[in-house]
Amino acid sequence: MLKLENLSVAVNNRPILHDVNLHIKQGEVHVLFGPNGTGKSTLIGAIMGFARYTITAGKIYFKGQDITNLPIDERARRGIGIMIQRPPTLRGLSVREMVNICGKNQADVEILAGKTNMLEFLDRGVNEGFSGGELKRSELLQLMAQQPELLMLDEPESGVDIENIAVVGQAANYILERGTRKNGQTIKKRRLDRLKSGLIITHTGHILDYVPADMAHVMYQGTLSCSGNPQEMLACIHDKGYEECINCALEGV
Ligand code: ADP
Ligand code: MG
Ligand code: MG
Repeated sequence: MLKLENLSVAVNNRPILHDVNLHIKQGEVHVLFGPNGTGKSTLIGAIMGFARYTITAGKIYFKGQDITNLPIDERARRGIGIMIQRPPTLRGLSVREMVNICGKNQADVEILAGKTNMLEFLDRGVNEGFSGGELKRSELLQLMAQQPELLMLDEPESGVDIENIAVVGQAANYILERGTRKNGQTIKKRRLDRLKSGLIITHTGHILDYVPADMAHVMYQGTLSCSGNPQEMLACIHDKGYEECINCALEGV
C-alpha cells in the first residue's frame, strides 16, 4: 500500500527527516511513537504532499506507483487521507457542504454524521468554534466520506476527553474497516484485497484500544529507529524512555 524508500525531507531548507524507510502492506495499521519535534508530523505531511515539505531524496510509492512528485489533490484522489493536529477553520463553508465535497458515491451525510455525533454541526462552518473533540469528529466525518485507502492520523487523542476518544476511535476503526476485537483477536470483516491501511501517530496509545495495530515504529532524531509490537513498544517507552527503548531494540533485547 505504502512504501517509503530512503525518504529525506526538509522544511524551509532545514533538513528534518533523513533516510526513512517504511513499508505498510494492505490491511496493516502501523503506529508511530517518538518525542516532540522529531519529525512525525513532517513524515505524514510529506506523504500527503503538503507544499511546505520538500522531498530532498528518496521515493514515496503508493499502491505500487511513484507519487513522490504528485500534488496533494491527486494523492487524495488516489486514496490517501489525513487528519492533522490543528485543522484550519473554514468560514462560509458548512460541514455538510464539506462532507459532500469529500464524498465518493454521494455518501449519506446524515448517517455518517450520526456515527460521529455530528448531526447538530452539519450546518455550522467547518471547525468554526469547535472544541477539541468536535474538531476531531468533524475531520473524521470528512474522512468517512472520502473513504481513503490509507488513513493517516496525527495524535487523534490530543485535546480530546475520554468519551470523545471512544467516538474518535470507533470512527477511525470504521474508516479502516478493521472489524471488532474479540478475546484480543482482531476479526477482519473484509476480503484481504479490500482492506484499508493506517499510519497513526500517538503518544498515549489510547487509540490502540479502538484500532488494533500490527506494527509500531519509534521515530528519533528524524529517522525511524526501531520497530516492533505496538503494546510491547509502548510499555518499553513508558518504562525506559525513548532513548533507552531504541538502544535495547538495537541490541535485540
Ligand atoms: P513531531 O510531529 O515529531 O513533534 P514535527 O514534524 O512537527 O515533529 O517537527 C519536526 C521539526 O521540524 C521540529 O523541530 C520543528 O520545529 C521543525 N519545523 C516544523 N515546521 C517548520 C518550519 N515551518 N520551519 C522550520 N522548522 C520547522
Ligand atoms: Mg508534536
Ligand atoms: Mg507532531
